[in-house]
Amino acid sequence: MSEILIIGGGITGCASAYHLARRGAKVRLIESRNIAAMASGWTLGGVRQSGRDPAELPLARAAVTRWIGLADELGAETGYHRDGNIRLARTADEVETIREMVTAQRALGLTLDFLPDADAVRAIAPAIEAGVLAASFCPTDGYADPVAATRAFATAAQRYGAEIEEGIEAVGLVVRNGRIAGVETSRGFISADRVIVAAGTHSAALLAPLGLDLPLAIMQVQVALSRPVERVFQQVFGVANADCAGRQQPDGCFRYTSGIGPYPGDPERWTAATLAPVQAEMEALRARIGAFLPTLAAAPIERCWGGLIDMTPDALPVISPVATVQGLVVAAGFSGHGFGIAPAVGEAVAALVLDTPLPFDLAAFRFDRFSRGATAAPMTLHG
Ligand SMILES: Cc1cc2nc3c(=O)[nH]c(=O)nc-3n(C[C@H](O)[C@H](O)[C@H](O)COP(=O)(O)OP(=O)(O)OC[C@H]3O[C@@H](n4cnc5c(N)ncnc54)[C@H](O)[C@@H]3O)c2cc1C
Repeated sequence: MSEILIIGGGITGCASAYHLARRGAKVRLIESRNIAAMASGWTLGGVRQSGRDPAELPLARAAVTRWIGLADELGAETGYHRDGNIRLARTADEVETIREMVTAQRALGLTLDFLPDADAVRAIAPAIEAGVLAASFCPTDGYADPVAATRAFATAAQRYGAEIEEGIEAVGLVVRNGRIAGVETSRGFISADRVIVAAGTHSAALLAPLGLDLPLAIMQVQVALSRPVERVFQQVFGVANADCAGRQQPDGCFRYTSGIGPYPGDPERWTAATLAPVQAEMEALRARIGAFLPTLAAAPIERCWGGLIDMTPDALPVISPVATVQGLVVAAGFSGHGFGIAPAVGEAVAALVLDTPLPFDLAAFRFDRFSRGATAAPMTLHG
């Protein structure tokens, strides 16, 4: 049987491996570090439909339906909770941004409430003390445990026969006569007649030697995890200008993120040290959150880390075959919001690779939609 090789053991690669293996395909996944070593481990883990681009909304809605039964389906805990997403407005301009978002997304059929004042916000989230004028609230949004969910996909894929190998790096895609033939790796050549590039921020570098331009801007986000404190907040929160987001985990730890900025280093050579947040930036982040959620912002920090984001020019992913190389599929560029939709993305990638009817319209995610030299979109919402 022909072999399908997946490059990247983040949630995109692992969900794709699961769906392919479940459908009887012979699948091998290689991961240069370990499962969920990058964005899928760094993430806030929000599972949201609200604030999604209309093109992504069908995937996001389908994904939420799948998350509900996913732990049972995969036979492992995913840490999924459907407690809602609340997006806060702190200024008059932000109130308008949120109001417009609610109107637009309701028109697309999403159940999304507009909370018009601080009392309405506190009725949903009593821990929000001050500084908030209005919010949107999507009760069917939620979050999952990033590492547990990614591993759950990987383990379930293995159960269906997928081979998953950590510590193997793809170093070059090999094409013969216009068809993918395999991948050169740190442990030698692996032949495959279909290859999925799901290597997150590293995807562009794998494609470039073939003359394939995936215009990713590599951005950086800071994350903090507090020590456990009393559970006072159930939802995931974001803000209208995306300069912070967070949630309190079921164990009481408060996990929160900054807005994004450009990553000045070489994304191929990141280490935890090169990504480590600057103390002053973390203080500023705590102050921003402390303005409306003081109890949680005051919680002592256990750990901080930095994460990278693979941002495309239109902030939408690429989930697509590559027309000039038969057998090559790209699933990357999730632009800071690829965790929540992964259960649907994995299914879509499997259909693309197996050439069966697509469960979603993927036209907006074509590889060839960018013009050469396109630049990254400004970040509006993430998480
Ligand atoms: C701080 C932060 C907060 C976020 N919050 C949210 C959120 O709340 N909700 C949401 O939906 N999304 C969120 N995101 C985005 C989301 O986490 C990512 O879009 C998603 O995890 C991407 O998954 P992936 O599998 O495509 O990429 P990754 O998880 O980055 O996986 C790529 C994998 O490929 C491996 N790899 C790279 N190069 C090679 C190679 N040459 N050979 C072999 N393996 C290779 C890497 O080691 C990595 O494990 C956030 C991201 C960050 C950083």
